Amino acid sequence: MKKNDKHEKKKNTGVSSFQKLKAVIKELFPAAAKKFPAFFPLEGLKTLTDVLMPFLGIFLSPLIIDELVSLVKSGERRFDKLIMYAAVLILGEMILTVINRLSANRLSKYQERLDNYFVSRTSEHSMGLDFQLTEDKKALDQLEKANTGMSWYSGGVYGIAEQFFMFIGNALKIGGFVTVIALHAPLLIPVIVVCVIVCGLLHVQNDRIDMDAFARLAQGNRMFSYYGWELVDFRYGKDIRLYDAADMLLGKWNGLVKKQVETWKWQADTQRKFSLWMVLVSVANTAFTCFYAALLAVRGVFSIGTFSQIVEAAGALNATLQGIIWNVTELFKRSNYAYEYVIFMNYPEALVKGDKKVEKGLHRIEFRNVCFSYPGSDVKVLNGVTLTVEKGERLSLVGLNGAGKTTLIKLLCRLYDPTEGVILLDGVDIREYDYADYMRQFAPVFQDFKLLAFSLNENIALTENDELTPEQREKVNALVKQTGLTEMAEKLPRGTDSVLFKYFNEEGVEPSGGEQQKIALARALYKDAPVIILDEPTSALDPIAEYEIYRQFNDLIEEKTAFYISHRLSSCRFCDHIAVFSEGRVKEYGTHDELVNIKDGIYAEMFEAQAQYYR
Ligand code: ADP
Repeated sequence: MKKNDKHEKKKNTGVSSFQKLKAVIKELFPAAAKKFPAFFPLEGLKTLTDVLMPFLGIFLSPLIIDELVSLVKSGERRFDKLIMYAAVLILGEMILTVINRLSANRLSKYQERLDNYFVSRTSEHSMGLDFQLTEDKKALDQLEKANTGMSWYSGGVYGIAEQFFMFIGNALKIGGFVTVIALHAPLLIPVIVVCVIVCGLLHVQNDRIDMDAFARLAQGNRMFSYYGWELVDFRYGKDIRLYDAADMLLGKWNGLVKKQVETWKWQADTQRKFSLWMVLVSVANTAFTCFYAALLAVRGVFSIGTFSQIVEAAGALNATLQGIIWNVTELFKRSNYAYEYVIFMNYPEALVKGDKKVEKGLHRIEFRNVCFSYPGSDVKVLNGVTLTVEKGERLSLVGLNGAGKTTLIKLLCRLYDPTEGVILLDGVDIREYDYADYMRQFAPVFQDFKLLAFSLNENIALTENDELTPEQREKVNALVKQTGLTEMAEKLPRGTDSVLFKYFNEEGVEPSGGEQQKIALARALYKDAPVIILDEPTSALDPIAEYEIYRQFNDLIEEKTAFYISHRLSSCRFCDHIAVFSEGRVKEYGTHDELVNIKDGIYAEMFEAQAQYYR
C-alpha cells in the first residue's frame, strides 16, 4: 500500500470526535499561547466574570425580595439591609461587567491576528511540502479543507478557544444552578435533564448535516478559488480575450454556483425540522418549571424570595444547559473542521529522506536504470535511464518534446523519487541525504520558472530587500551586468530595488520574456550551487539569442557541473557529452562529433534540420 493510501485509510477510520477535539487542542492551543501569551489568560478572566455574574442576582434577588416582603408585613421603615443588598448587587454587576467588557474587547483584537498567524503556518507548511504533493489531488483537497476548516467554518483558534472557555464557564454555572435548585425543588432536575438530552440529540443531527455539507462543498470551494483567484490574474487575460474564453469560464462558474447552492438548500431543508423541535422542547421545559415552582410557593413550601431564586436558577440552568450543549456540539463540530488543518500539518511525506550530509565541492552523478511513472499513471515516462555525469562535466539532454528530459531533472532534484532504479550522488543513493542539504547542491532554472511580484533584487537573491548586505547587493549588481540585464536595470525607476509586475504596485515593471529568463538565470547563478541545470529556460528566445545566452552562461558557471536541456541544439556546442532522449530512454550518447556521424541517428537528423542556426 502506498504511504498516502495508508494515510487516507488512517484518516477515515476510527478517529472519534473526541480524539479530533483532543488533537486540535493539542496542535492549536500551545502554538497560539506561544505566539500570543495574553490570549488565554484574558479568556480565563472573561470566563470568570461570565460565571460570577448570574450568581450575584440569584443570591441577592431573593434576599432583597424577602426583605421587602418582611418590611411590608412588619410595617417597619428600616432600609439599611435592603440598601446594602442592592448596593452589593449593583456594584458587583458594574465591576464584573466592566472587567468582562474590557477583556472581551481586548480579546476581539486577537481574532484576526490568530487567523493570520495560522494562515501563515499553513502557507509555510505548503511551501515545504514535497513537490510531488502539489500535483496530488488528495493533498490539494486537504490544503483546501485545512484552509476552509480553519476559517469561518470553525472560527479558527479564536472560535474554538471561545467555545472551550464558554464550555468551562457553563459547566461551572450548571454546578451552581443545580445546587440551588436541588436544595429547594429537586424534582425539576430530571425534567430539565430529559429536555436537555432531547435537545442535545437534535443538535447532533443538525451537526451531522453540517459536516456532510462541508465535505460536499470542499471540492467546489477549491474550484471557486481557482476561478476567483487564479483566472482573474491578468496573465491569463491575453488568452481569455483572444480565445474568447470568458463565456466558457462564466458558464463553468455559474454551473459551480448552482451546484453549491443546491447543497446549501439541501442543508437548510434537512435541518429545519430539527430546529423546530428544539424550540418546542425548550418552551415546554420553561412552562413546566414556572408552574411547578409556583405550586410549591403557593403551598408555602418556600418563600417568595426562594420562588424567584428557583425560577431564575431554573431559567438560567435551562439556558446554560442549552448553551453547554451548543458549546459541546460546536466544539466537536469546529474541531472536526479544524482537524483538517491537523491532518494537513501532519500530511505524510511523499519522499524518503535521510540525514547524510552532502560532501562539499563538485559532485559525480549517476543514474542507474532509472524508471519513472507519474503518480496515478502507469505510463513509464522514463524507462531504464543509465547515465553518468562526472564532476564539472557539462551534459546536454536533447530530444523531442515529451521524451522525458525534464522528468529526469525533476528526479535528480528530488521533486519525485524514481519508481525503479537509483540516482547516486558521489556514490550515495540520493534518498540517504539530508533533504535540505541535498537541495542546496542544485540551481535549476525550469522552463516554467516563476518570478515574484517583488523587487528585482529580491527575485535574484531571494532575500528581503532590507536584509540584503552591501556584499549581497554587490553580488546582485555584478550578476545583473553579467546576465545582460544592465540596460533593463538602468531604465527602472528605482534600479534593482524596483518592483516587478503590477500586482501590488502601479509602478511595477513588466519585464519582457527574454528579460524574465535572464533574471531567472541570475537567480540560479546567485545561489552558487555546484550543479546548475537549465531546462529550456531560453525557449522564448530565437535560436541565435539562445545560443548567445548559453555561451555567456557557460563561461559564468566556471567549473560547475551543468545539465542543459533543449529540444534545440544551441547548448550542445558547450557540452562534454550529449544524451539523446527518446521515449524515456537514452537512445544516443556521445560528443557532438560522434553523434553527427551516426547514420540515420536522431541527433544527426535534428542537427541537419537545425543546422542553419549553428553553422
Ligand atoms: P521533455 O522534457 O522531454 O519535453 P517531460 O519530461 O516534460 O518531457 O515529459 C515526459 C512525459 O511525461 C510527457 O508525456 C508528459 O506529458 C508527461 N508528464 C510530464 N509531467 C507530468 C505530470 N506532472 N503528470 C503526468 N504526466 C506528466
